[in-house]
Amino acid sequence: MTEAFVRAARTFLDAHLPPRAPRSATDRVALLEEIDSAREAETLRAAKRWQALLYDAGFAELDGERAREFAALLAEYEVPDLQPLLVGLHIVAPAIREHGSAELKARYLPRLLRGELTACQLFSEPDAGSDLAAVRTRAVREGEDWIVTGQKVWSSGAHHADLGEALVRTDPDAPKHAGLTLMLVDMRAPGVEVRPLRQMTGGASFNEVFLTGVRVPDADRIGPLNGGWKAAITSLSSERAALGGAVDAVPPDLVERLAEQARRRGLAGDPAILRRLGRLRAALAAARLTGQRADLDPAAAASISKLLVNRAVAQAVETASAVLGPALAADTGDGYAWTEFVLGSPALRIAGGTDEIQRSILAERHLGLPRDPR
Ligand SMILES: Cc1cc2nc3c(=O)[nH]c(=O)nc-3n(C[C@H](O)[C@H](O)[C@H](O)COP(=O)(O)OP(=O)(O)OC[C@H]3O[C@@H](n4cnc5c(N)ncnc54)[C@H](O)[C@@H]3O)c2cc1C
Repeated sequence: MTEAFVRAARTFLDAHLPPRAPRSATDRVALLEEIDSAREAETLRAAKRWQALLYDAGFAELDGERAREFAALLAEYEVPDLQPLLVGLHIVAPAIREHGSAELKARYLPRLLRGELTACQLFSEPDAGSDLAAVRTRAVREGEDWIVTGQKVWSSGAHHADLGEALVRTDPDAPKHAGLTLMLVDMRAPGVEVRPLRQMTGGASFNEVFLTGVRVPDADRIGPLNGGWKAAITSLSSERAALGGAVDAVPPDLVERLAEQARRRGLAGDPAILRRLGRLRAALAAARLTGQRADLDPAAAASISKLLVNRAVAQAVETASAVLGPALAADTGDGYAWTEFVLGSPALRIAGGTDEIQRSILAERHLGLPRDPR
């Protein structure tokens, strides 16, 4: 069974992807690299093409052993970056699958999973981030539609999204978690305005989204009226699991490249640098191996992995700063986007629920410790 799967997967990959080229010390390695809008558009096109191929061949939704086998095979090929589709695939699709009506699933799931539709997550607001249930964007019923008005923020990829998964308040009189509903907003509908937010890395990968009297058919509601919190939790858990797997996005030769930089600067024998490099290797291995542990509750594993990945990335930033010093801001010629790595890394411990929130989740839900005062 497994052998047949691997054979079929290899035939498929051979037919569609070139083998992975050997990396040299000067190859470009995207490490939280910012890209311009032309490259972003090309990445999106390539992601859509690749996801459609995966979906049509039955490789888009693998889990367990098959997912691991397929991922191992992929490492041998030059694989298009699926980043522009990840919100749709890992955040929005799971909520539709678990909470959506049969009609909603039929309308959106295949096109989301095939990468035909892109999506963004319209959860956070200026006064609702960690305290997400405080969202104030209102939806008021009008016939068969909802009229949605409010402001969302930090909406990754909203500038190229077809759909927005919006958490909105439908009952302002209910206790805050009980008055929320999840719905799919057509990002091209009248009243949707997307404004880019410039980050300190120089890029603008997320946005403010202003919703002014946007009409959303009730048929595009995900899950029951005022049952949005539970549906949103499905998206958030799935996002956390995906972010916990982010260690796979750290290039495997990161430590070697830093060691090479240390050698070039005459720091190869420096005990403080060696200790940092050793600790970094251990932190990356801990994050990778924790992601593979089968004995942990998957929800707890997602929070733990996300914390471990963030710790490893923080150590990588410290190590890079110690090794490169002011050269961090220059082109080191080793292909790494070091400046963007350092400036972009704080985003990891904020996105998808901050480190503090992950620790509270672990303490309260998984260790049974007393709840935070609210
Ligand atoms: C790269 C990136 C992409 C993102 N993409 C999206 C997206 O696509 N869609 C979307 O809706 N949102 C997105 N976000 C927003 C993200 O979910 C929020 O930034 C995050 O939940 C934190 O909310 P906040 O920024 O309002 O900070 P706050 O909630 O105001 O937190 C500020 C600080 O207080 C701490 N804090 C707050 N409450 C507690 C508590 N109870 N206990 C202990 N400490 C606490 C936090 O840990 C943090 O350090 C993204 C964020 C980033 C960085």
